[in-house]
Amino acid sequence: MPTAAASPRFAITATVEQVLLVASAFFALTANRPFFAAALRGHDPGDPATWAFALAVALWLGAMHFLLMALVLNRWTLKPLLGALILASAFASYYMMRYGVHIDAAMMRNVLHTDTAEARELLAWPLLPHLLVYAALPLFLLWRVRLVQRPWLRAAAWRGVALALAAALAAATLLLLFQPFASLLRNHREARHLITPGNVVFSLGRVAASDLRGAAQPRQPIGLDARPGPGWAQRRKPLMVVLVVGETARAANWGLNGYARQTTPQLAALPVLNFSHVSSCGTDTETSVPCMFAPVGRRDYDEARIRGSQSLLHVLARAGVAVHWRDNQSGCKGVCDGLSSDTVLALNAPGLCSEGHCLDEGLLFGLERRLASAQGAQLLVLHQLGNHGPSYFRRYPRSFAQFTPACENDDLQRCTREQIVNAYDNALLYTDHVLARLIALLAARADSVDSVVLYVSDHGESLGENRLFLHGMPYAIAPDVQTRVPMVMWLSGGAAPALGLDAACLQQQAGTPLGHDHLFHTLLGLLDVQTALYDRHWDFAAACRGVAMAQAR
Ligand SMILES: [Zn+2]
Repeated sequence: MPTAAASPRFAITATVEQVLLVASAFFALTANRPFFAAALRGHDPGDPATWAFALAVALWLGAMHFLLMALVLNRWTLKPLLGALILASAFASYYMMRYGVHIDAAMMRNVLHTDTAEARELLAWPLLPHLLVYAALPLFLLWRVRLVQRPWLRAAAWRGVALALAAALAAATLLLLFQPFASLLRNHREARHLITPGNVVFSLGRVAASDLRGAAQPRQPIGLDARPGPGWAQRRKPLMVVLVVGETARAANWGLNGYARQTTPQLAALPVLNFSHVSSCGTDTETSVPCMFAPVGRRDYDEARIRGSQSLLHVLARAGVAVHWRDNQSGCKGVCDGLSSDTVLALNAPGLCSEGHCLDEGLLFGLERRLASAQGAQLLVLHQLGNHGPSYFRRYPRSFAQFTPACENDDLQRCTREQIVNAYDNALLYTDHVLARLIALLAARADSVDSVVLYVSDHGESLGENRLFLHGMPYAIAPDVQTRVPMVMWLSGGAAPALGLDAACLQQQAGTPLGHDHLFHTLLGLLDVQTALYDRHWDFAAACRGVAMAQAR
């Protein structure tokens, strides 16, 4: 009597190569819709050449994935590894299509560091049917495959032929696609992060490689002597310092700096200090953000030392300041490693997030609760998405589209300079609003919490001057628009006396040349943390602090 277990009702007999062929076609056609959308952007759908191009892209994607999988998958590894790839692709394609995220090393790090509360919010109901179609069904079919066993010599010959054919197809299609791909990657370098599941494997590899490097060289601790200063014992109310790290806002278009347009109408109506001559440490986020939190920044720039050392935040935390980093962008670049942090995207602020990005008002989410439970000294860092280009128009809600016509295309080349500047200025209007709302929230609690807001952008931006766009020019040859940034400070009514600060004196400082190099020492001074790292010369508020406190230092 035949047993049911020995003869499954449904089985597919196939070779490893046949399975890989089907899997490659499946990945190319189902998981890569965002990549197709990026590659075909601007192509006329009615033109037969577009369809030929799309076919070539599909063949290239299939051949590339076949090639890579055929190098590592064999009779024994096929089912577990391909199964994992199918599952990863199904998740990746869902979030790419729904939220427009790109799967790069930073995103992979986010995924790996997601806690269960965040994960629960990310696992929305529409994910279920998607997983059924793109994961459960193919996994079931894979499970039912019965692999053909061949003598190893024949198996190796087959594999060799298959690899050669895939390599030839990948090379031939790449030759056809070279020109459009070159321009795609020039305009949208991040499009490569849409190639699925290659992006998942590649990003995991990058995270693993950098973690291995990082594990070999832990960040050097700094400020081991950090301790609370004498001011702590005298404070009657909790102190909350909010440092807003802006993004791509340039001083030249800042209304408070006298720009022809009023891009900061709400701040202009508030008693804020505007610092009009501030220079950035770098011309891109990766350089500026770590540098802003380092004891020695631009004046004696040493990237390896900055990246290899702990930051201002670790020094403050050591002295007992409650530090929290809230991110609405690409992370804290190691500045907040090991410290409390969250992201606006994970908080899923209602009505503020779509396509993997959130409007900056999400940074203020839950701030009232934080203020209500404030104790001691706190530093809250809010990392903005700000004026992150090139899609300035995506950085503000429709109601802030005041300067028109605004460029509403991700490709700046398709807009006039006027449209680009309009969109950029609208995004500044929105930052003005976010900062004013932050100040209003803190002012409403000023009776119970003393608070300080310090806003400073990470670098500037070129908006077509000398035909330059965006940022990231080498510092020595960068135009001023990329290195001059806005900086604004606000103190609650009780903060100035509590910190012993003379507002009129600060007003004078606001007109002097300052830079990111001042942040480290000024924040140590404001939060009254004592350490041998502190250099009074780089604390722009030091001269404005009460004589008694200055002597105590
Ligand atoms: Zn930046």
